[in-house]
Amino acid sequence: MISTPIPGTIPAVSAIIDGATITAASGPPIAVVDPATEEVIIEIAEAGDALVDRAVAAARRAFEGPWRRMDVEARQAALRSCADRIDAATDELAILETANTGIPIGQVRDRQIARAAYNFRFFADYIGQSTSELYEQDPNYLTFVRREPVGVAALIAPWNAPIALGSMKIAAAIAFGNACVIKPSEQAPLGVDRLVELLQEILPTGLVNLVNGRGVTTGDRLVRHDQVDLVSFTGGTATGRAIMAAAGQGLKPATMELGGKSANIIFDSADFDQALDAALLSIFTTNGQQCLAGSRILVQRGIADRFIEAFVARAKALRIGHPLAPDTEIGPLASRRHLDHVLGFVPVSDRTGVQLLAGGRRAPGFDHGNYIEPTVVTVADINDRICQDEIFGPFAAITTFDTAEEAYALANGTRFGLVSYVWSQDIATIMEAQDRLSSGIVWCNTPMMRELRAPFGGYGDSGVGAEGGRACEAFYTRQKTVSIPR
Ligand code: NAD
Repeated sequence: MISTPIPGTIPAVSAIIDGATITAASGPPIAVVDPATEEVIIEIAEAGDALVDRAVAAARRAFEGPWRRMDVEARQAALRSCADRIDAATDELAILETANTGIPIGQVRDRQIARAAYNFRFFADYIGQSTSELYEQDPNYLTFVRREPVGVAALIAPWNAPIALGSMKIAAAIAFGNACVIKPSEQAPLGVDRLVELLQEILPTGLVNLVNGRGVTTGDRLVRHDQVDLVSFTGGTATGRAIMAAAGQGLKPATMELGGKSANIIFDSADFDQALDAALLSIFTTNGQQCLAGSRILVQRGIADRFIEAFVARAKALRIGHPLAPDTEIGPLASRRHLDHVLGFVPVSDRTGVQLLAGGRRAPGFDHGNYIEPTVVTVADINDRICQDEIFGPFAAITTFDTAEEAYALANGTRFGLVSYVWSQDIATIMEAQDRLSSGIVWCNTPMMRELRAPFGGYGDSGVGAEGGRACEAFYTRQKTVSIPR
């Protein structure tokens, strides 16, 4: 097993402003807890109003500086250096991230830290290919459209993939010439703290700043700050509503990447083994704590018995273990509060049409930590809250259907609309399904595949706006139309 970060060696970061790490703030303490032991790793002092104001002022100064006017190739080179720095620090970042999220280290290192480096390389490449519009219909005038950076971005990130999601926001904001202040989740700030420290070695002073603290205090101050020009948020739907309202007061553009309750439709005509592997991956990676988790599995009657039997056997065989152990497949949930939330969906005996097939309890053999067994239920009525609320854990709900019509009604029958998964080897079935499903992303015979050039965003309660190449360019720039005589 990789050694746990030793408390005392990790700085208690309240803020990173103008390149300096601030640890001696006087705000209320926030305990960062190890989900595997429930012990406090470190206490950080929350960044209060004064530190938020200083962070925003630093970002404003950096925005007014040379970065936005820099030769694109120089900006690309800086972004690529950030990616190289992340690659070089992979193990350190992965250990910190795992220590306060409980996500198995293999998944963090191979998927999330690798993604963080890719995010910087992707936006470096993207800005090298940006084009502009030119209109010359009027013989007397030329009209062109410039894209300018917007200003200072407030970036608010959740705890479930802090470095992967935070790096996407930072890379996109600065690639298009903005400066930013990021607020990681108060529950899991360690990885992003270190990431932002590393970026200081490469980027101009004050371009990327960080404040740590609770959402309703530090986060709210940041979002409402009159020197913040735009807000990018990833997190829960209720929080998204509050932040969107606050951003709206200041007429600030805001993107909202919110919760999900994604349906995974498996037709009789699916490649059985591929669909089974992908269904397990989709609901059990990241301990099930993913916005895009395929948490509702809809399986067609002809293969349902065989599928359910195989799925339950594979779920029961997943290796539960310490998140820093390299062979762990399911680690502890992020917090005790979250464990209680997930277990709150388990009492099923009082509900008709719900049957518990696996798990549903704290994992035996673990005296400490927020460990839960992978849980599988069948649910007949999709109005049951198991099928309507975001559980956000290793908890799969399986419902059987007969016709494609029925599958679409079940899949579209929640207020969310982030991802739909469809499995069939019949092209006509796939083409009809992608048209009928109401979600921002449809993955057909495809496990979790993120194409950064394409928009990633949800319908309904899953969000407003999107992240991705052109989507980020549209969000992090504003257009200026210029006309001049020929
Ligand atoms: P959360 O909404 O509780 O918190 C997210 C962040 O918002 C935290 O940094 C928090 O401190 C901050 N915050 C809370 N209230 C705030 C306020 N009033 N003003 C400013 N900031 C505030 O979410 P979470 O529990 O950390 O993350 C889990 C949620 O994130 C799930 O619902 C999940 O689906 C969602 N998520 C969505 C995506 C996506 O791309 N759609 C990706 C990952 C996670």
